[in-house]
Amino acid sequence: EKKRNDELGELCDSINYMAQELSNTEQMKNEFISSVSHELRTPLTSVQTHLEAMIDGIWEPNIERLNSVNEEVIRLTNLVNQLKNLAKFDSEKSKLNLSEVKVDNLIKNIVYNNQGNALEKNINIVFDLENIKVYLDKDKISQVIVNLLSNAIRYTNNGGSIYVSAYKENGNIKIHFKDNGIGMPKESLDYIFERFYRVDESRSKYTGGIGVGLTIVKSIIDLHKGKIEVESELNKGSEFIVTLPIIDKIK
Ligand code: ADP
Repeated sequence: EKKRNDELGELCDSINYMAQELSNTEQMKNEFISSVSHELRTPLTSVQTHLEAMIDGIWEPNIERLNSVNEEVIRLTNLVNQLKNLAKFDSEKSKLNLSEVKVDNLIKNIVYNNQGNALEKNINIVFDLENIKVYLDKDKISQVIVNLLSNAIRYTNNGGSIYVSAYKENGNIKIHFKDNGIGMPKESLDYIFERFYRVDESRSKYTGGIGVGLTIVKSIIDLHKGKIEVESELNKGSEFIVTLPIIDKIK
């Protein structure tokens, strides 16, 4: 078929493009609903089964069993919170709430708070942090650091290591999160910031995520007019590099 090279041709192209975009959106919505229902159903079924076994007297309601039910409830709560965060940061009304923040302290505190997960896997976290005091949205950037750090921990095998550095360069702040974990294939790197995208469902099954962590990260960084880059090699490790422009004063 010959393509028309005039205005009508252009119009056809844009209609085709719009139709494609619309069906992508529809497909994404369906994928969204099915992945959310899947993620919620599994822990819910397990909570229900365990509670029923205790109600029916098949299981004695001891601390261990109650704890395991509680863990599933916590997992569910985390999932719902992630969804809520996604909706929040996705909305265009989202505004930056700037305050003066010591970036090195912020990173250190978040690492300490997540140390439990790293220790469980015997993962060593190494810092290299310059003293940096700048204006940014503390809550939102905290969310970026939490998400990138928790990914680095989740996708790194026992005994691995994570390197976190922060410094100023050419009017920007740069924050690196480097791990020697499971890495990602090159062809996935274009998609990981899309919502509900996970490199490999089977390997991600036990991590408790639903593929929105990096979507949230990207939208927060966009709000700050920064950028995020990723380098990764399968079975070698990944590095996420955040660049944020330095805002000296509140305008
Ligand atoms: P999830 O909740 O699945 O972790 P994210 O949006 O945070 O969702 O990440 C999307 C996907 O990118 C993950 O499912 C995982 O496959 C991949 N990924 C993210 N961070 C890393 C990392 N540090 N190492 C290897 N793979 C990663």
